[in-house]
Parts: sequence; C-alpha cells; structure tokens
Amino acid sequence: MTLAIDGWFAIDDDGTTHLIGTTCLTCGTVAFPPQRGLCRNPRCEGDETAATRLPRRGRIWSYTDACYPPPEPYVAARPYRPVTLAAVELDGAGLVVLGQVKDLTVDDLAVGMELELVNGPLADGPLMWMWGRAS
Ligand SMILES: [Zn+2]
Repeated sequence: MTLAIDGWFAIDDDGTTHLIGTTCLTCGTVAFPPQRGLCRNPRCEGDETAATRLPRRGRIWSYTDACYPPPEPYVAARPYRPVTLAAVELDGAGLVVLGQVKDLTVDDLAVGMELELVNGPLADGPLMWMWGRAS
C-alpha cells in the first residue's frame, strides 16, 4: 500500500482512513497538515506538538468540478477525467480540508452536506484521502 503523502494520513488494516494533524502541547491548537516546531497560534509560544488523529467526518464548506488537469507534479489520468473536489469543515476541529470526492459528482453535493473520510487511488496509483458519502 503506497500512500500519496507520508505522514499526513493513515489507513488502518480495516480500511478506515484518518487524517493526521498535530496538537500544540501548550495551547491545544490543532493543525493540518501536521505542524512541527512553533505553534500556528500567533498568541502561543509553544514549540512542541503531538500527532493527533482528526475527526473523520465533516460538512461541505465548498465544492467544485476540476475540469482541467492540475499542473505538474500532479499526474493526471490520460485522457483527463474531471474530478470533484470538496472543502470539508471537520467536525469540531475548526479546520477545512480539501480533497477529491469519491463516487459522487457536484450534482450529488450541497454546502452543509455531511461527508466522511475515505481513500482511493490517484491516477498514477498511490492512495490518497478522499471524501465520500457519510455512512
Ligand atoms: Zn500553541
């Protein structure tokens, strides 16, 4: 199993996908992507963080069709097949995370709709976190 990005997400043996963020040990601010070193909170001088699994569900903040292939180094399918992207506000985390949407199109989506973290292969093979229908 090859992940598209090391250290940003994990897939358990049962296929459950988790985003990995960091929590500041001084003030509790949660960051994604994982942040090492100085805390992201400008009012905090903390410089130690711990890896933390983020909520796996959230609500759509925005979404779109990606009708044109992204620039390199992204490896697009040839011929290019448009993908659906969603920015999802994670439950209780105060973070919005962008991801490709799996098995749904923009016609299926609405702002505020609940989605769940899943995974799927990118065009060149490695697995990536994606957003899917909430079970
Ligand atoms: Zn902090």
